[in-house]
Amino acid sequence: MKNHTILAIETSCDETAVAIINSNREILAHEIISQTEHKIHGGVIPEVASRAHMEHLGYLVKNAIKTSGLNFIDLAAIAATSGPGLIGGLMVGTMMAKAISHAIKKPFIAVNHLEAHALVIRLLHKVEFPFLVLLISGGHCQFLIAQDIGKYIKLGKTLDDSIGEAFDKIARMLGLGYPGGPIIEEFAKHGNGKRFNFPRAMIKRQGCDFSFSGIKTAVKILLKRLKLNERNICDICASFQECVSDILLDRVNNAITMAKSLNFTLNDFVISGGVAANNFLTENLKKHIYLNILSPPKHLCTDNAVMVGWVGIERLQRGYINSIDFAPKAKWSLEDYIY
Ligand code: AMP
Ligand code: MG
Repeated sequence: MKNHTILAIETSCDETAVAIINSNREILAHEIISQTEHKIHGGVIPEVASRAHMEHLGYLVKNAIKTSGLNFIDLAAIAATSGPGLIGGLMVGTMMAKAISHAIKKPFIAVNHLEAHALVIRLLHKVEFPFLVLLISGGHCQFLIAQDIGKYIKLGKTLDDSIGEAFDKIARMLGLGYPGGPIIEEFAKHGNGKRFNFPRAMIKRQGCDFSFSGIKTAVKILLKRLKLNERNICDICASFQECVSDILLDRVNNAITMAKSLNFTLNDFVISGGVAANNFLTENLKKHIYLNILSPPKHLCTDNAVMVGWVGIERLQRGYINSIDFAPKAKWSLEDYIY
């Protein structure tokens, strides 16, 4: 099959990223900026994020083209994350992709951000459909069966906060900065995970939905009577991770049972999204779950444009391209995919 090269854009949250990759699985360029504007707020401010995407995207596209050594006319298509996410950022990235696509007369591909997290593993490993996906990021938390490109069954989701949000909010309460995940993982290494027994919501219940808002409240109540010294911070971080780990294990077992009851025979279990960068959580699952567990490397777990480019390649190979009037969607469930 002919080698195709794609330029891909990610702007759905607080990463502005541009990648150029080809169907031979070569990453020719990856320019990424994690916006630091949000650090003082301890969370992403949508309007600030859109403005930062506008400021950075143009020169990141130029840099990516320069690094790849290609010209725009060498590209086979342009892909952009067109949902779900913060609508301002999605519009900036999608408009840029459409403008390039129109100028070079090559197809535009609207990529679902969740599909990008779910499929990037296929850029790196031979993972065949169907497989189980646990998508855990700053804004998303769900179990999926990936049946094919564009074909997903959602088995469960969070009823309130995502896991990444729980990490970020607890880090903020502890005065540790943003994003909270990597910092909490580091402090937890020096803490006693058995000291505080945070609530394991949903455990032993049917299905594989999650709820994380109760842990946040438990930490808040605990902090009213506890001094914020290093020992306490480390123990809270370790106990929080222990709690999340127990919840994940229980929910994963139920998700596997649900997949079986739907007659799916699964070998591979892909954990992706920013929280998949957490070694404590993934190693614990590897110890207890019999499926072949795979996670992308850390820089492809958190938001990036390589994953968008890979979905672009997979979709282009099937002829799944989009019309130039495709409108970005703030909400876009993988179960509502068109193809
Ligand atoms: P994403 O939304 O995919 O860009 O991922 C960002 C989210 O992943 C944020 O909520 C981070 O706190 C979280 N995250 C990143 N690294 C880690 C880690 N090592 N442990 C837990 N959460 C993490
Ligand atoms: Mg992000």
